[in-house]
Amino acid sequence: MAKTNGAAPFLISGGGIGGLAAAYALARRGIAGRVFEQSSEFREVGAGIQLGPNVFRVLETLGLKEQVLADAHRPPAQEMRDALTGKLITRIPLGEEFFNRFGQPYGVTHRADIHGAILKACQGSNLITLENSRRVDGYEDRGDSVTITLDNGERVAGQGLIGCDGMWSNIRERLVGDGKPRVSGHIAYRAVLKREEVPKDLWTPDVTLWAGPRTHFVHYPLRRGELYNLVAVFHSDHYEEGWNAEGAKDVMWQHFKMQVPQVTRLLERIETWRMWVLCDREPIKEWSQGRVTLLGDAAHPMLQYLAQGANMAIEDAAVLADKVAAKPDDLAAAFRDYQQERYLRTARTQIMARVYGEFYHARGVTAELRDMAVGGRTVEQSYDGIAWLYGGP
Ligand SMILES: Cc1cc2nc3c(=O)[nH]c(=O)nc-3n(C[C@H](O)[C@H](O)[C@H](O)COP(=O)(O)OP(=O)(O)OC[C@H]3O[C@@H](n4cnc5c(N)ncnc54)[C@H](O)[C@@H]3O)c2cc1C
Repeated sequence: MAKTNGAAPFLISGGGIGGLAAAYALARRGIAGRVFEQSSEFREVGAGIQLGPNVFRVLETLGLKEQVLADAHRPPAQEMRDALTGKLITRIPLGEEFFNRFGQPYGVTHRADIHGAILKACQGSNLITLENSRRVDGYEDRGDSVTITLDNGERVAGQGLIGCDGMWSNIRERLVGDGKPRVSGHIAYRAVLKREEVPKDLWTPDVTLWAGPRTHFVHYPLRRGELYNLVAVFHSDHYEEGWNAEGAKDVMWQHFKMQVPQVTRLLERIETWRMWVLCDREPIKEWSQGRVTLLGDAAHPMLQYLAQGANMAIEDAAVLADKVAAKPDDLAAAFRDYQQERYLRTARTQIMARVYGEFYHARGVTAELRDMAVGGRTVEQSYDGIAWLYGGP
């Protein structure tokens, strides 16, 4: 039986949204953690992130909801439109009706804002140490403790290790050993504009998705409406590992130039893009072993088509802390309980994200079928369709 040792901290590899949320959720339970981040500072690059009512439910229990909402934008609706004709396919209200159904709001925020809110909470806790420029290269589970090796050769001991090191997790490589993530063949180009850079007739407070053949384009405001987030996704054989390569505008342009002016005029406004090669993995059932477990993208990386990867990482963090607190004398069992509670929900999200991607990018009859299926629903039916996700965790 792997006993927790009240005095020894948890070691957390990775200080992204998942790693910080894990450290904070544990600290709320009186459990100490050390977060090791390979980058020289704790910060999020990238752009917008959508937050469902499921994550606000968790943020509320962690005491972080108001901080996250303070910088977020609350879109009145989510619209899906045909990128070739401009036709409205469906409009799902996200205001009062939505709140009454799910008991929590829908929000969109800058990744740096939500990461910053959790970081600030961690900095305010004397149970958390945040250590940057510290890459975790390996670990050894010694039965009564776990030791990690850092890139400078230093070894650090703790009572448990949580791999929050993202899509390319090296803790997962050792623990699960299922090779590299699956390259989807989809590329995302992302940009953020200031509100004044968006032509007045194109600015809308909604989350708008333009569905096109083998493409989609999403935009929504960020940071209380001061910024505008744009994400253009298309199918491509081009593959570059990692992310954040500067996007080449002409590659992207080829895929969108025949679309409606509301799409092309917005794309024309953008000078600097960042590119993501979208990857995921097949769902797995076992991601814990002894005193080591995984969380967030390290455990269940998914395509972003349900806008849930970070939401799931935060849900994971809260469940993990609950399970550890419930079985302080048996850490291996606590980690198994955590994985047991999470694997089907996260697997469903991974699989459904792929399905949504197929739907957004449909052509021909499949696109017609999509329009008929989602366009013919009442608001209540739309809510019912997503209740498995938004009603959780
Ligand atoms: C285009 C796009 C749009 C998205 N939109 C949404 C959305 O709307 N809503 C949503 O919920 N999610 C969205 N996601 C998904 C979301 O970004 C991820 O699921 C989320 O960031 C995962 O958080 P994480 O902490 O698990 O991993 P990461 O954010 O990848 O963090 C991992 C951290 O670990 C560090 N690290 C890695 N290896 C080591 C090591 N060996 N030692 C120390 N540190 C290490 C990294 O530097 C990084 O800071 C989107 C993703 C993409 C690509």
